[in-house]
Amino acid sequence: MKKLPAQRGRVAVIGAGPGGMAAALSVHQAGHDVVLFERYPHARPAGNILNLWPPPIKALGLLGVNIEDLGAPCTSEFRNSRGRRRVRATLPKQIVRDYGGGFVGLLRPELYERLLDALPKGVLRVDHAVERVEQDESGVRLHLADGRLHEADLVIGADGIDSLVRRTLWGDSPKREHNLHIFGGYTFDESVETEPGMCVLSHTRTVQGSWTAIRDKGRDGHQWWVLEAFDASREFTGDLHSTATSPVGPSPVRSPS
Ligand SMILES: Cc1cc2nc3c(=O)[nH]c(=O)nc-3n(C[C@H](O)[C@H](O)[C@H](O)COP(=O)(O)OP(=O)(O)OC[C@H]3O[C@@H](n4cnc5c(N)ncnc54)[C@H](O)[C@@H]3O)c2cc1C
Repeated sequence: MKKLPAQRGRVAVIGAGPGGMAAALSVHQAGHDVVLFERYPHARPAGNILNLWPPPIKALGLLGVNIEDLGAPCTSEFRNSRGRRRVRATLPKQIVRDYGGGFVGLLRPELYERLLDALPKGVLRVDHAVERVEQDESGVRLHLADGRLHEADLVIGADGIDSLVRRTLWGDSPKREHNLHIFGGYTFDESVETEPGMCVLSHTRTVQGSWTAIRDKGRDGHQWWVLEAFDASREFTGDLHSTATSPVGPSPVRSPS
């Protein structure tokens, strides 16, 4: 039988992204009461592209998430822009066995589905935006957008890039611009010619063009992304589709100022 903590706490997690869902699972597993608040009507992923290394796979398994046949196993290789291999990351078989997986390529929605399946009923409350957080010696009070109040002993802020919890604790801070932009996509088209079971990351000094094998709900495919230096103070005015599908990659490449 699971050992319960000496004092059962009331924990509120804000944000049902991968961080919040994993935090809620872990708090539940530790024997506390947990509620996970999400402002949107669904826990919905931002983007699709995802590769996981063994530690997150092991962590997901320990949290009770089904990791069976999760993603396409890949060997990752770094190459220069002419295709010459720089490094091949081959994982020891024992690590892959012990961690329940090696390096895998997948799409985010499937990971979300598996996390949601692992969450006990009643934990996730969608359409619950938290507008304000207050704390004192007695605990934390969450003010919800619909006027309701939720009290907890502890709050976990997993509320993403514009985190209300972070702003409440430390005030506003400007976002740090990375001066990068990314084009990406995925396909299940069987005519795509790639090397099976590979994730290849190729670089020039300013562009990374990569693809990886993926498996999504038992279906094999590929995802790709092109990451390039881009001056964020300038608006992108090109055609997204033709830029992303250009055989020479997004161009012209502008270095961040
Ligand atoms: C367009 C886009 C594409 C991306 N694509 C990729 C990708 O392909 N691969 C990759 O690895 N990373 C990608 N990322 C980065 C990705 O956002 C992070 O890797 C990851 O989602 C961070 O997880 P998280 O749980 O910390 O936060 P988030 O996923 O941001 O989750 C935060 C959650 O909190 C909720 N929330 C926020 N404020 C409140 C509130 N006040 N009340 C209630 N709920 C609230 C949000 O609705 C959201 O569901 C992408 C990001 C964006 C914006």
